[in-house]
Amino acid sequence: MHILITGGAGFIGTHLTRRLLARGDTVSILDNLSTGNLDNIREFTGHPLYSFAIDTLDNPLVLDRLASQADAIFHLAAAVGVQLVVERPTETIETNVLGTHAVLRAARRYRCRTIIASTSEVYGKGIKIPFSEEDDLLLGSSARSRWSYAASKLLDEFLGLAAYREFGLPVTIVRFFNTVGPGQTGRYGMVVPRFVRQAIHGEPITVYGDGEQSRCFCHVQDTVRALEFLLDRPDSTVGEIYNIGTNHEVTINELAHEVIARSASSSSLRHVPYSEAYAPGFEDMRRRVPDITKIRQAVGWQPSRTLNEILDDVITYERQRLDSVAVA
Ligand code: UDP
Repeated sequence: MHILITGGAGFIGTHLTRRLLARGDTVSILDNLSTGNLDNIREFTGHPLYSFAIDTLDNPLVLDRLASQADAIFHLAAAVGVQLVVERPTETIETNVLGTHAVLRAARRYRCRTIIASTSEVYGKGIKIPFSEEDDLLLGSSARSRWSYAASKLLDEFLGLAAYREFGLPVTIVRFFNTVGPGQTGRYGMVVPRFVRQAIHGEPITVYGDGEQSRCFCHVQDTVRALEFLLDRPDSTVGEIYNIGTNHEVTINELAHEVIARSASSSSLRHVPYSEAYAPGFEDMRRRVPDITKIRQAVGWQPSRTLNEILDDVITYERQRLDSVAVA
C-alpha cells in the first residue's frame, strides 16, 4: 500500500513510518517541521519506499499530488501539547481545523482511506470513568484557551465523520490517550520526557498542582500497532471513532517516584502551581482513563507494554541522546 502520513516527522509519525516501511508499504511524509524534526526521520533517508516533503497543509498542489499517489492517509499533523496550545491558541485552532479540512478535500478527490488523529482531550472534564467513544463531552469555557485544542480536534472529528456520511469517504477517527515513548520531545509540556530528563540531570522533578491527577500512559509502539490494525481492517472500522490507550492509571506523583527509582536518580519532587506552570486559571483534567473495549472488539488490539517498560525505554533513549550530544 502507498501511505501518506501528514505530520510524519513527529513523534507518533516517525514510529508509524518505521513500522510501515518494515512491512513493505510505501510511505510519503508531509511535514512542516513545526513540532516535527529532521533528526527524527534521518534514518529513513535513502530507503527505496520512502519520500519526504517539507511543506504545510495549506499548499494545495503538494497535498493534491501526494494524495493522488496514496491509497491511505494518516492525518497526524496537528498543533499538540498543552503548553503550545496555551501559548499559541490561534495557531492551534487554525492548524488543526484548516489542516484537516485541506486533507479531507484532497482525500475526497482520490477516495483515500483516511485515519484522523484526535485526542482524549475531547472528553474534557468528563467525570464518568472510563471514557468511552459514545460518551457526552464536557469542555470548559471558551474563555480558557486550553479548551481550544479539544474544540479544534472535535471539529476535525465532525469534519471527518461528515465526509464519511455525506460522501462515503472511508474515514476513521482515533483518540490518543497520553502516547509516550522514545523520541518524544518535552518541549511542549509532555510529562514523561520532561521527568526523565530532569531525573537524569539530578534536577527537581516539576510536578504540577498537587500531583494527584492521574493519566494512563500508552507505549507508542502499542499505539502504532493499533493504527496498523485499523488500516488493515477498513470494512469494520470506517465511520467509527476509537480510543487508543491503556487503562493502567497512575498519578503524576507516582509517575515521578517511578522515574526517579528506575533511573536511580538523586532528584526530588518540586510541586509547581498550575498558574506558574501554564497560566492563571489553568484547568487540568483530574483523571483520564480510556475504555478500550471498542477497538479490542473491532480489531483485536490491546496494549501490551507496561509503564515500567515505557519508562525504561525512555530512560535508555534519553541517556543515549545525551551521550551523542556529548560526543558531537
Ligand atoms: N505535568 C507535570 N509536570 C510537567 C509536565 C506535565 O506535572 O513537567 C502534568 C500535567 O499537568 C498533567 C500531566 O502531567 O496533569 C500530563 O501532562 P502532559 O502534558 O504529558 O499530557 P496531558 O495529559 O496534559 O495532555
